Amino acid sequence: MHNASTLSIVVPSYNEEDCIPLFLAAMADTIAGIDAAAPGTRVELVFVDDGSRDRTAHLLREAADGTWPFDVRWLSLSRNFGKEGALLAGLDAASGDLVAVMDADLQDPPSLLPRMAAMLVDDPTLDCVATRRTTRAGEPPIRSAFSRLFYRLMNLVSPVEVPDGARDFRMMRRAMVDAITALPERNRFSKGLYAWVGFRTAWIEYPNAKRAAGRTTWNFLTLTGYAIDGLMSCSTMPLTIASYIGLLLCAVAFGATCFIAVRAALFGDPVAGWPSLACIVTFIGGLQLLCLGVIGRYLAKTYLETKRRPSYIVRDGNLGGNLGQPTSR
Ligand code: UDP
Ligand code: MG
Repeated sequence: MHNASTLSIVVPSYNEEDCIPLFLAAMADTIAGIDAAAPGTRVELVFVDDGSRDRTAHLLREAADGTWPFDVRWLSLSRNFGKEGALLAGLDAASGDLVAVMDADLQDPPSLLPRMAAMLVDDPTLDCVATRRTTRAGEPPIRSAFSRLFYRLMNLVSPVEVPDGARDFRMMRRAMVDAITALPERNRFSKGLYAWVGFRTAWIEYPNAKRAAGRTTWNFLTLTGYAIDGLMSCSTMPLTIASYIGLLLCAVAFGATCFIAVRAALFGDPVAGWPSLACIVTFIGGLQLLCLGVIGRYLAKTYLETKRRPSYIVRDGNLGGNLGQPTSR
């Protein structure tokens, strides 16, 4: 059997002081399973403290003292860069030939790790084992409804396929990780990037699990922003739709003008119907602003990309060397 020599597990953590101890304990329980699935594998956890304001960094420093049956590597970012930045920092720092990504709150069951490792070891043609949730129990119904809508829209407007309920939780081979970290964009939507780089991915499904402790840092507003960013980073379809609507309205206006001209020539021009005219003018004005707004958002993204600022800045850590600073992407 082929031996995977190192498995890196990347864990973005923002204010997770309640979850870190539970997470470490759960990982310790999982180590034997991983070793059985891929004998001789060295496991390293790569924690990314995403500018936490609680004792997360302190706990990580403590955990790195060598008492765990796995290596604990950690880095602290200089401020809160958001989950996408933290994920990238972890992927850049991960050294394993297998790399897993999971949340610190145990919503991604560690018990699936041995299964993922076994699938990759057994099937050399497979590059990635990803997960999707089959249920959303324990989540507010409104949030579930909007998530579903998001995935439907996403798959409609973008060329890449992101299954409903897809999680960031996955295990990848080195080649796929390198492909993802090599992508130069600053506005990152990981689920879209995973799909975009391709590679052969197998999916495992599991029912939703509740957070082990602490609270989610996402609210309706931040999630909506994330959804819009995600859609825009995977697709230019909104621009196309805007121009088609413009074209359609021009055609309608042309037809209506012809109709009115002919009617005026035949029956004279009784002045009536200005309220409906006012409605139409307002409607079209609104539509123009909407389309301008769509264009403006893409322009803003382009502006942010051209600044070429890094997606994260490392403040501290135990990785040595360059502390996993962003490579020259
Ligand atoms: N996270 C992060 N930076 C942030 C927000 C979240 O690194 O700005 C991490 C967080 O610590 C957790 C993961 O991303 O490990 C998922 O966050 P959360 O559980 O709050 O999201 P949810 O599961 O509700 O989608
Ligand atoms: Mg969570």
